[in-house]
Amino acid sequence: MSDTENEATDEAVAPETEVAAVAPPADDQVPAAAKGGRRFLIAGNWKLNAGGTDGCDLALAVARTAADHEETEVVVAPPFTAIAAVSNELYNKKSDVAVAAQNLYFEESGAFTGEVSASMLRIAGATWAIIGHSERRQLFGETDEAVLKKVIAANAGGLKCIVCVGETLDQREAGQTIAVIERQVEAFASELAKSGGDGVIAYEPVWAIGTGKVASPEDAQEVHAAIRGMLAKVDADFSQQTRILYGGSVKANNAEGLLSQRDIDGALVGGASLEADNFGKIIQIAAKLARQG
Ligand code: PEP
Repeated sequence: MSDTENEATDEAVAPETEVAAVAPPADDQVPAAAKGGRRFLIAGNWKLNAGGTDGCDLALAVARTAADHEETEVVVAPPFTAIAAVSNELYNKKSDVAVAAQNLYFEESGAFTGEVSASMLRIAGATWAIIGHSERRQLFGETDEAVLKKVIAANAGGLKCIVCVGETLDQREAGQTIAVIERQVEAFASELAKSGGDGVIAYEPVWAIGTGKVASPEDAQEVHAAIRGMLAKVDADFSQQTRILYGGSVKANNAEGLLSQRDIDGALVGGASLEADNFGKIIQIAAKLARQG
């Protein structure tokens, strides 16, 4: 089945609200971190959870922690149904926590039942989009070609991208990790470069997502360094500016070792992002490391 046929039917309610006018925080208004000035980014992927008022409560709890730790940039990714409400809540609280969609469709409009476009997501208040998550690749047949189209659509629609890459356990055990990641990165890197360093890559080994099996900091760093090398083939500045997040069973108790690595610029957090305390501690750890420089 095609990606379109498989898409979830939870379409965002995209009211024309004041949220549409909310601009992402200006990059020159935030403290720079170590690692070449790349600011830590901690993003919470709520997946198919917290799609109603519970999402608003969670976002406000995250916003409270984030307000005291401005060294860390924070993004939350609710389901489509909660993007407008969560964006409104954060806007009303003057929070810098940004909102991401977990997916988008690459067409702008038309006969694509159940789909949501980049501009609709912007109207609802999202400023980011997660693209190519392994659950979309594996469960919904999303291809490298579709990922590229979505990055193009996000760029055109004014959404910043968090593009996910990662190998399966079989691929890792067969020694194919770097080759797989290279194929995935090469599919979209030139397009991501057009967003002038605003684009983000998340390295998420599939075997680590939702399993409790986290990559060792050293193994993760090795892949992150390799990804940065792949980006350098497109452009040296782009390679240095682009933040590369690690994702896969990140929790408060393993975040510090990962975030201390030279090429790990943050985390994409699934399960632990649904727990405000756990997610808040990850934000705090990133802020502490940023202050240490
Ligand atoms: C994710 O969904 O992107 C993820 C990393 O999930 P978890 O943290 O639960 O492994």
